[in-house]
Amino acid sequence: MTDSPLAVRPERRAELAAGLARIRARIADACAAAGRGRDEVTLVAVTKTYPAADVLALAGLGVADVGENRDQEAAPKAAAVAAAGAAPRWHFIGQLQRNKARSVIRYADVVQSVDSARLAAALDAAASGARDRPLDVLVQVSVDGDPARGGALPGAADPERGLDPVAAAVAGARGLRLAGLMAVAPLGWEPDRAFARLAEVAARLRADHPGASLLSAGMSGDLESAVAHGATHVRVGSALLGMRPTLG
Ligand SMILES: *Cc1c(COP(=O)(O)O)cnc(C)c1O
Repeated sequence: MTDSPLAVRPERRAELAAGLARIRARIADACAAAGRGRDEVTLVAVTKTYPAADVLALAGLGVADVGENRDQEAAPKAAAVAAAGAAPRWHFIGQLQRNKARSVIRYADVVQSVDSARLAAALDAAASGARDRPLDVLVQVSVDGDPARGGALPGAADPERGLDPVAAAVAGARGLRLAGLMAVAPLGWEPDRAFARLAEVAARLRADHPGASLLSAGMSGDLESAVAHGATHVRVGSALLGMRPTLG
């Protein structure tokens, strides 16, 4: 076992266990402060830039959901983890090129970063027939409405990038299930302001799509604010696995 590339050293396992205990305590405290049940919030461990061995160690510590943002990195990592016998739920959380849809639907259980009708169509075409159940999709929202960055635009009628048209495209696709929304707090915004606005957008979406109940918001630095504003999923990387060597 010690010479397997999928084994972690005992020190790394202890580091991950300590990080996980800290994050679980932060989530529990945030739920208590918000008057929410602890089981209302799922931790997605963002393992980008970290090896499959770390995913396996986290799975062994009870982490059931992992997030990745690049197909080139995630596809072989997911294959290695599956070959080692673990089956976490894989969340794709990064910007996704349409020509990667066919690869991503093979391992992803959830794609959290759909922000155009065209990407929804590409995922639907890839998923239909290739999967035995629909792919869960979160529509990524641009909280500040800046069209230059990722995310569908709340209140915009634009059939390609408007939030309502993108949500309708996902909801109407046979191979996809509209599960909710995802967002990242814009740079320079107070998290409370960003996640309060996101909560309004999510409430409006649920009026039209009652099944779209998931809200993925909050990362290492701002998960408490996201939980206060209704997040059902927090995506935590650096506070759990350590600082990444490069931006990713
Ligand atoms: C990297 C990443 C995260 C995790 O960020 P940390 O600050 O390391 O917790 C969450 N969401 C997305 C979309 C990411 O790309």
